[in-house]
Amino acid sequence: MPYLLLRGLSHSASAFLLLLLTACAEAPAQPLAIVQSAAPASPAVSAPKPPLSFEEWRMLLRSDAIAAGIDAELFDRTFAGITLDPRVVTSDSSQPEFTRPVWEYIDGAVSVSRVAQGRLLKAQHRPTLKAIRSAYAVDHEVLIAIWGMESNFGSNIGSHNVIRSLATLAYDGRRQVFWRSQLLAALQILQAGDGPEQGLIGSWAGAMGQTQFMPTTFNQHAVDFDGDGRRDLWGSAPDALASAAHYLQASGWENGQPWGFEVNLPQGFDYALADPEVRRSLTQWRELGVKPTRAIDANDTSLATLFLPAGHRGPAFLLLNNFRSILRYNNSTAYALAIGLLSDALDGNPGVQAAWPRNDRQLGRSERIELQELLASKGYEPGPADGIIGANTRKAVRAFQQSLGQPADGYPSHQLLEQLR
Ligand code: CA
Repeated sequence: MPYLLLRGLSHSASAFLLLLLTACAEAPAQPLAIVQSAAPASPAVSAPKPPLSFEEWRMLLRSDAIAAGIDAELFDRTFAGITLDPRVVTSDSSQPEFTRPVWEYIDGAVSVSRVAQGRLLKAQHRPTLKAIRSAYAVDHEVLIAIWGMESNFGSNIGSHNVIRSLATLAYDGRRQVFWRSQLLAALQILQAGDGPEQGLIGSWAGAMGQTQFMPTTFNQHAVDFDGDGRRDLWGSAPDALASAAHYLQASGWENGQPWGFEVNLPQGFDYALADPEVRRSLTQWRELGVKPTRAIDANDTSLATLFLPAGHRGPAFLLLNNFRSILRYNNSTAYALAIGLLSDALDGNPGVQAAWPRNDRQLGRSERIELQELLASKGYEPGPADGIIGANTRKAVRAFQQSLGQPADGYPSHQLLEQLR
């Protein structure tokens, strides 16, 4: 879902953050996808328990909505019978101890059946995809991959009343300012006549349609590509695919360029270079002995970062600009990697060559917090002990690894935790 960042993790999501985030409800297709795209980084508002009743809050919202141009009659009709949804509150506040390892997530995302279905649909929709590429300069495969990941090609678009979900989050959730803006955007969609007859249906967090757009993303990027006068992301595959293309185009997609590719690293490689802040040209990486595992057609001057999603014992990838465009869609590196690998498979390319360290035990949330506390107690500076492995924690892990003379991949392994203990 081009989604937004639940719980404010948005744009700080880093290489390993993906392992730490919670699932986006009810989307078997994207169990790790935490963060949903589009959302402009809105400030995390730590609001106290709302002093207003839901009814009082709704009346204030009504005034704001009318001031913003929403028809009063539409507001009243839409909110008739709307109550708080306790399931949404539960989903928003859950902090699971364990999340799936990245290789399990990739296995599920790039399954044999999904690749087969995606190839079939790519062939069936070829004329539409060609027209979309002419209009927005976005490759076929990435659109089919997004379609597959977001809604299993339109078959799983969620079943929540989006107005009810967003009202619940805006009233009772964290980041109320963000949710309120999404709610007002959802009302604008209804006012524009784009919503389906049965109302706005979506995920518990308000992501809608076959490409799971948040309401603000919808208003900015959804397009009517089949020409029936409605931006119908629920029922029209051409509208959904073209809207995803329009959004990727706005996110800087470079048509015909790879998202990235798997590489082999030379003996004695300095793993500290595998850092989102270290960007080198493909020529420079080659000079360091970093070699693609297959022939790649990309500009030598393109800047790339080196990504080790499972640490130095797992596969390595160079990531190009298009990877960042996918992250704008959904700010999770696991998600973007899955989209890239699924696109490759749809294009007939082989899968990941190196073995994943499948015997590694992932740190749970409480262990990640312990890791951060131990690093801090030893004089490293991992940032707040929140269980989220961001840039500061990764730096601290690297420094500790270097003090032990170990490969400084910044990866928070179970072995590292044992050494800290
Ligand atoms: Ca349409």
